[in-house]
Amino acid sequence: MKRIGVMTSGGDAPGMNAALRAVVRWAAANEVEVVGIRRGYAGMIEGEFVPLAPRDVANIIQRGGTILRTARSKAFLEPEGRAEAARRLAEAKIDGLVAIGGDGTFRGAIKMTQEHRIPIVGVPGTIDNDLYGTDFTIGFDTAVNTALDAIDRIRDTAASHERVFFIEVMGRHAGFIALDVGLAGGAEVIALPEIPTGPEEIAEQIRLSEAKGKHSSIIVVAEGAYPGGADTLMKAAQQIHPFEGRVTVLGHIQRGGSPTARDRVLASRLGAAAAETLVSGSSGVMLGEVEGEIALTPLAEAVERRKPIDRSVYDLATVLAE
Ligand code: ATP
Repeated sequence: MKRIGVMTSGGDAPGMNAALRAVVRWAAANEVEVVGIRRGYAGMIEGEFVPLAPRDVANIIQRGGTILRTARSKAFLEPEGRAEAARRLAEAKIDGLVAIGGDGTFRGAIKMTQEHRIPIVGVPGTIDNDLYGTDFTIGFDTAVNTALDAIDRIRDTAASHERVFFIEVMGRHAGFIALDVGLAGGAEVIALPEIPTGPEEIAEQIRLSEAKGKHSSIIVVAEGAYPGGADTLMKAAQQIHPFEGRVTVLGHIQRGGSPTARDRVLASRLGAAAAETLVSGSSGVMLGEVEGEIALTPLAEAVERRKPIDRSVYDLATVLAE
């Protein structure tokens, strides 16, 4: 392969820039040209291509977001959109692609390879950590640390005012962020999509905490843990057992910020390995890190297989909340 494309797609995640840098610099060291595709599949369809040399990715390893920008593209969901994208890639003489993104990005990549025989290798860039085939996705560690920092601050005010704080963190379908943040933040209750926790259980937990002499509590709720989110869950619990409660929805602050050392190391390893894998002739796989080793997983498996949350971590958090 003489020229490869690289793009970031779907939701942005801290560490995407570090992965991009690794792709570009590994390729340059191996005499492969790199073309950056702006705004994910949307930019691919529009032909928004920019050559990337090693100096073009200087001073970005520490930056959150993605310098290539990212987008969600409705047109790419249609065969015509993908045909136009394939035409643009051929025109720019791009022989293969590194796609940095989440499950939607990989679903699109699978179709692109099936329909237009374009070799694509995936790099898991999403704060949700919901991809099978890697212990951690790029951005997850930073998002957890950002949410944790917010919880530590809220805990100060929760303790001072004797209140119960419901903190909603990101995770519509997966509770990885909530689980780690809940354990590390000393939450009394953690509500996850994978382990339903209803208002009855929460009301009972708060009643027990009060009986034990606790005057404030932190309840961490993944956004997909309860229909309507943390606010609805809190109000339903208050109907069962009245208490002074407040809701904080952390929202997009979890997506921003400078990536942690762990995310930069992971992104650097996976970005370089992805470029190497693509150039050596592989396609349709996602690079991941499993028990410290680089691992390859078919893209279809990465998106279709459900990565289970670690039940023992949940149980531990429950014991330690006593
Ligand atoms: P995150 O998990 O952080 O949201 P993501 O990669 O899953 O990231 P999506 O918005 O789901 O983000 O997907 C990115 C883009 O991939 C979509 O805007 C769309 O263009 C394309 N895409 C998603 N699903 C498909 C699909 N089934 N077929 C073709 N293209 C798809």
